[in-house]
Amino acid sequence: MTISEQRLTGPRHGLPHGGQLVDRRLDAEEASALASGPLPWLPLTAAEAADLRALATGAYSPLSGFLGAKEHQSVTESMRLPDGTLWPIPVCLGLPDDLRVPSGRLALRGEAGELLGTLEVAEVFERDRAAEAELVYGTSDPTHPGVARVLGAPSRAVAGPVQALVAPLEGPVGERALTPAETRAAFAERGWATVVGFQTRNPVHRAHEYLMKCALEMVDGLLLHPLVGPTKEGDVPAEVRMRAYEAVLGYFPPSRVLLAALVAPMRYAGPREAVLHALVRKNYGCTHFIVGRDHAGVGSYYGPFEAQQLLAALSAEELGIVPLRFDNAFYCRRCLAMATTKTCPHPDTDHVALSGTQVRAMLAAGQLPPPEFSRAEVAELLIEASRS
Ligand SMILES: [Zn+2]
Repeated sequence: MTISEQRLTGPRHGLPHGGQLVDRRLDAEEASALASGPLPWLPLTAAEAADLRALATGAYSPLSGFLGAKEHQSVTESMRLPDGTLWPIPVCLGLPDDLRVPSGRLALRGEAGELLGTLEVAEVFERDRAAEAELVYGTSDPTHPGVARVLGAPSRAVAGPVQALVAPLEGPVGERALTPAETRAAFAERGWATVVGFQTRNPVHRAHEYLMKCALEMVDGLLLHPLVGPTKEGDVPAEVRMRAYEAVLGYFPPSRVLLAALVAPMRYAGPREAVLHALVRKNYGCTHFIVGRDHAGVGSYYGPFEAQQLLAALSAEELGIVPLRFDNAFYCRRCLAMATTKTCPHPDTDHVALSGTQVRAMLAAGQLPPPEFSRAEVAELLIEASRS
């Protein structure tokens, strides 16, 4: 597209990954017929159910279903689908050992037996879980929470295109679970041509607020996009986090920020997952994406800048969204401002910095962290939650 063409079409968000937003939603009428019908069915784990929803809404465009053997191998080994499209992490559906799958259509149900959607069975294959752990996660250590999920999955996977109910979710979190089509419409309505996405699975403190504001100085809008699918034990519950995000929004002009929830499982795959997070935000209509230190990492499996380096190594054309790479931020008592080592020359002793462990201990003791570290509104919510 030329510049003059861009002017003619007006504000233009990035194209979805692969060029077109996938829509595999099942309408309510068909779903109710299926729910009581005779189709053989497969139970999904909470993580698989979240993946199914992401597939159906187009969050995982261009994927339209769970991956087959050839795709699994290609994604695992080369980070690309067999047609060459960038895709960093296999999205698979486990088939329990005692289940036999007939050809044709399979109903997919949640942990409570509710109908989630259907899968057109294309193939059943032996999933090379060891290769997936080693090549995608960079480790076969079963104490890594993402690797544990891969190694703990059934040895067989069932592949094929899906359709799924994308029912409104309940509660304050569910109300914010917008689809990519919905966020794109919201951006267009607000006239945002450039939008930066911020992924998080944690409460937002001053440091994250600073990164978002740095980015927001350069683009039209911010999508604060916390992940609310299955995370690991010890992460703050989504309901609490959502209230804390709402409190932080009090420090942004309302017309410049959209808070939405991303229903997807966290994989803790570090660099590969940073690429996935960027592509998903591209599908949600973002043009820019914030990548912090040790993005999507856990423990000390990945180097602090490995995710940023992997994103930087991909061509702009292939990625289709601009990664904004940030280091950790802190308040500096001598700069009298939030800063990073990119902008502040002073030693650590001048910085207000707390480790995650220190913050959790303070909150559990009912103590407010310093205002340079955390907004009081946010800290109070977290204290309340840690006591209940
Ligand atoms: Zn300083």
